[in-house]
Amino acid sequence: MTLFKYPFLPKLVEKYSGIPISELSAREINLAKERVIESIRRGVVSYPSDYEENVVSYILAMIIVASIGDQYLRRRYSLAEAKTAYRYLKDEEDILEVAREIGVDVKERNRGSFTIPLWEYLKLSKTIRDERWKLVNRTLINGNVLLSRREVARLLMEKIRSEIEEKVSIKVENIPSFLENWVSEIKLELEKRKKSEFKGRIGGRIPPCMIRIMERIKSGENVSHQERFAITSYLIGRGKSIEEVISLFSSSPDFDEKKTRYQVLHISGEISGKRYSPPSCDKMRTFGLCYMDEGCKGIRNPLQYRGVKIDRERRSKKQSKREG
Ligand code: SF4
Repeated sequence: MTLFKYPFLPKLVEKYSGIPISELSAREINLAKERVIESIRRGVVSYPSDYEENVVSYILAMIIVASIGDQYLRRRYSLAEAKTAYRYLKDEEDILEVAREIGVDVKERNRGSFTIPLWEYLKLSKTIRDERWKLVNRTLINGNVLLSRREVARLLMEKIRSEIEEKVSIKVENIPSFLENWVSEIKLELEKRKKSEFKGRIGGRIPPCMIRIMERIKSGENVSHQERFAITSYLIGRGKSIEEVISLFSSSPDFDEKKTRYQVLHISGEISGKRYSPPSCDKMRTFGLCYMDEGCKGIRNPLQYRGVKIDRERRSKKQSKREG
């Protein structure tokens, strides 16, 4: 059956999740680790050609992700699995069967055209930002929304993403000891990825407090008013444009462009006439937002972090030249 290639189908997960760990092959275990690492590096996963290995490595990968307990990873991994599924689903002959298996009510109208109940459409499309998904741009037939095969696949992708994310959000206390080393390896990979992502956005040498806030925003978490203020004033202070700052917030689940624009313009001084600086390190500490590292020594405001780090790097280069 072709649907074996979709490892997230409940009946497959149920069938294979009962396999005792002692019966798993080294290859299956390794595939699970590679699956998570690939999701971090490339934002997709590769399906092994053997369907059993695909399902087993998927189940193990879910356990690994859940045990790491990192919101950024949860989101990145679930999106990677969902994107990979979409690649197959958009050309899937049995797309109705996949939809049924994951509990989405889709019907075929004519060859290549489908319908979905309006309430289901609204639920699944709410996180898709493209204009053409807005209800005013859709065709409705008797309370159902008309869709192409590719659009059905896109909605199923959303369903798969949200269900996987929910599952990897479950707390896993005790993971098998053989997975522990791999968890450390994956955590390192994750840190590298986060650093490079944020470095690209701002240009490097970012204090840990700001990395933490961006990480939370990028993973879709709602951040506090103090965090929003701190990151906005920091980015403006680092010379980022209004549009760049707004785009950072666009991954927040409750993103409201008008409101965000107003707040960013206010902090930048364009509305208020006063450009705000980020809170001092002392204040950040009292807010519980300071995550000091060795680069923070001697600085009073997060905006000094970069300059101090550059100075230290220069001095240490000179020193090593002198020493030969
Ligand atoms: S010391 Fe200052 S710059 Fe460093 S993490 Fe704390 S608040 Fe941020």
